[in-house]
Formats: sequence, C-alpha cells, structure tokens
Amino acid sequence: MKVFKFGGASLKDAAGIKNVASILQRYNKEQLVIIVSAMGKTTNALEAVVAAHAKQTGEAQQLYDALKQQHYAIMRDLFDEGDDVFALVNDTFVEGEWMLEEKPSDNYDYMYDQIVCVGELVSSKIAAAYLNKVGLKTHWLDARDVVATDNTYREGWVIWDKTKANAVKLVPPILDQGSFVITQGFIGATSENFTTTLGREGSDYSAAIFSFCLDAESMSIWKDVPGVLNADPRIFENTIKLDRLSYKEAIEMTYYGAQVIHPKTIKPLQNKNIPLYVKSFLNPEAPGTEISSDTEDNYPPIVVVEKNQALLHISTLDYSFVAEHHMARLFRKAADLRIFVNMMQNGAISFTICVPNVPDRIEQFINEISDEFKVKMEEDLELITIRHYTQETIDNLKKGKIVLFEERIRNTLHMVVKNIPVIERREVEIAGSKA
Ligand code: ADP
Ligand code: ASP
Ligand code: MG
Repeated sequence: MKVFKFGGASLKDAAGIKNVASILQRYNKEQLVIIVSAMGKTTNALEAVVAAHAKQTGEAQQLYDALKQQHYAIMRDLFDEGDDVFALVNDTFVEGEWMLEEKPSDNYDYMYDQIVCVGELVSSKIAAAYLNKVGLKTHWLDARDVVATDNTYREGWVIWDKTKANAVKLVPPILDQGSFVITQGFIGATSENFTTTLGREGSDYSAAIFSFCLDAESMSIWKDVPGVLNADPRIFENTIKLDRLSYKEAIEMTYYGAQVIHPKTIKPLQNKNIPLYVKSFLNPEAPGTEISSDTEDNYPPIVVVEKNQALLHISTLDYSFVAEHHMARLFRKAADLRIFVNMMQNGAISFTICVPNVPDRIEQFINEISDEFKVKMEEDLELITIRHYTQETIDNLKKGKIVLFEERIRNTLHMVVKNIPVIERREVEIAGSKA
C-alpha cells in the first residue's frame, strides 16, 4: 500500500483535478491512500472568514459565499448539472455556516478549526466524486474518524495509539475491496468529536501519519516543483534538484523552514523506514527526490531562508548574571506561549534568542517576564541556514546584508540578517560546485 498526498497547488482548478486523476490512472492496480489539501488558497480565504467573524465586521458571510461560488464554478467544469456531488458539497458548506450564524466563540482557535476544516472536506468530496466519475473506484473517508488528537486547537497533538487503531480498522477493508481511499490532510478530531487542525501546511504530516499507522511501502507528495531543490526557487535562481536526501538532511532543512515539506513529516517515516518521494505533478514520470535512510553525504550547499524573524535581547533588570534558573524560566514561558526558539546566545547579563515574529505572543512573553527582565527587540529579520556551506556561498549570501548574529556548527551555518528584499529574486549563485 502506498500513500499519496496532493496539495493545494495540484488541486487549484478543474484542470488540476483532471491532472490528478490522470496521474492516478497509472496506479489503477495499486492500493492507494490519497490525502488531499484544500484547493488552491482556500485555507487562506477561510482564515479571513474566521477573522471577519471573530471581529464581527459583517463580511464573514460574503467572503464565505465567494469561496462557495469558486468551488461551484470548478464543479460545473467537472460534473453535469444535478450530479449528487453538488448536494454533498453544499451540505459541508452549510455545516461551516452554522458556526457563522452563532456568536463568535471566545476560543478563537477552536472556532478556527471548526470553520477552516471545510476546505479539506469539500476538496476531498469533489476529488472523490471526480475519480469515481472517470472510473477510478474511490471511497471517501473522514480523516476525523482516524486522526485522533488532543484539544490543542490549530496544532492538534496526535494520539498515536488511538490513531493507529482507527487506521488499521477502517482503511485496509476498503483497499481490499479494490477501492482507493481518499481522505483529508490537515484535520483530526478530539475525543469529544470536535475538529482540530494540525498546523498550517499540515497535510504532508497527515500523509506521514497514515503512512506510519498503515506501514505504507512508500509515501509520495506531488508538488509543483521537480523535487526538493537546494533552495527556495521563489527566492533564488540557479537552484539544483536533489536526487536523494537522507531523513536527517530533510529534517534539518524543514526544521529551519524549507517550505517544501512540513517539518513534522519526516520523523514518522524515518521511524518505520518508509521512503518519501517528492514528485512533480506537472511531470509525473520524472523521478523527483527520494528521501530515505542515510545515503552518502555528498550534498551541494543547501540554503533555507526563514523570513519574519525577530531577535529578542533579554537582560536582567538587576544586573545579575543570566543563570540556569533564568533560562529555565524563559524557556518554559516560550514553550507555554508556543514561541519557537531558532537560535540563542548567552552573555553575562543578557541572553539573545531568534524567534518567528508572532506579535501577540511575543508581547505576552515580554509582559510576563517584565518583573525580572527587560527586552529589546529587533524585527524584520531573516534567518538564513546554509548546510554544507562553502565560502563562496556564504560570501554571496552576505552581499548587501547586515549580519546580526552568526553561528557555525559542523557543516551548518546560521545567520540572522537584515535588509533582504522579500519578493525580488536575487541574482545570486548559491549552488556553487558540488561539495
Ligand atoms: P502544496 O501544494 O503541497 O501545499 P507547497 O506550496 O506547500 O505545496 O510547497 C511547494 C512549494 O515549496 C514550491 O512551489 C516552492 O516554491 C516551495 N519551496 C520552498 N523551498 C523549496 C525547496 N527547497 N525545494 C523545493 N520547493 C521549495
Ligand atoms: N490546507 C492547509 C493549509 O493550507 C493544509 C495544507 O495545505 O497542507 O495550510
Ligand atoms: Mg502547502
């Protein structure tokens, strides 16, 4: 059995769904569990609906209706008028609407999950109906009947034993009847049957959860790039496709923000030695990238840029040394507020951390430690990580930047820099020669 994941980019319109079906035709004889994301940028649009509902701006329903119309337009390209799928999808949209008819919940994250899940629910229903229409027998499964989480809304923690028991009970009997299984990425459910989400871009992780629980022979994620590249092609030119990557290398890249794979994806696969293929849905015959057990380390420089970082310079109010008990308190507070520390450095009376700039959480952090510490903050920074660095790569990446913070550990270099244009493509040769 294989697990396939199709993301928003592959399902963004009717042509995309037809292309996914044509890819799946090639696997007609295989047992497949197919995980899908919401179509295109639907999750962003649903986030805007939630925000409007929470603030009661009066626009939530209108934004939601626009999204419905986009989905119906795609469906009209795929199905005849009167097809059952219209009623099925409409029912799902109506369930989301119930939340909008109520007063906004005090628990924003809870409300978010109950509304945002609609994106994956409708995309999977549309895709399932289309696959059946073109003769690929496909069974729609509600991921919330499988993926059990705690009630950390917007970042559900998977309860593995329960999830595994659900997967093993529900999925194999369907596959054995010669059907594909299609289900949603990104969503799960609490023990009280409320919907949770697993964190933005979490569908890759969902696919890894299913792969782990079902002992898949491999997992493939279908992207709009030829595979994993040695840098983000939206920022850099002259990127190189990596044919093979070890799990370790992939974990390092995704931990520091390589957006091609969700960072939690690799561990479950590594634990069961399940290979991960990153393949192009535009060129399905091409081999893509294989991520598997450690291969020989012969990588070109690999660059990861994580934007929107902040440096927090934290110092004691009374000039006492920053001791271990201070750090324990600071880290506990950061963990409670889900502030992820990417880099750190300590001096005598100060301690500096580099964190993603999430303003409300950082403000709360600063307030809650203000009895003992004062904090100076620098914003609009980027964290650049270079694996297998060469001097040439470092020099090129530093051009025109102020480096505020730099650290080298074995073959990894991290630097926090200022003033890198966000969208402008950089004419920088990052690839260099093979290390
Ligand atoms: P999905 O449709 O599955 O959600 P994403 O858009 O989340 O796909 O991920 C694919 C995108 O990741 C690519 O279009 C590419 O712009 C970006 N990306 C960032 N870093 C890399 C990298 N190192 N290699 C390949 N793609 C990358
Ligand atoms: N639809 C979700 C998101 O956009 C999950 C995913 O695509 O992986 O974040
Ligand atoms: Mg994505």
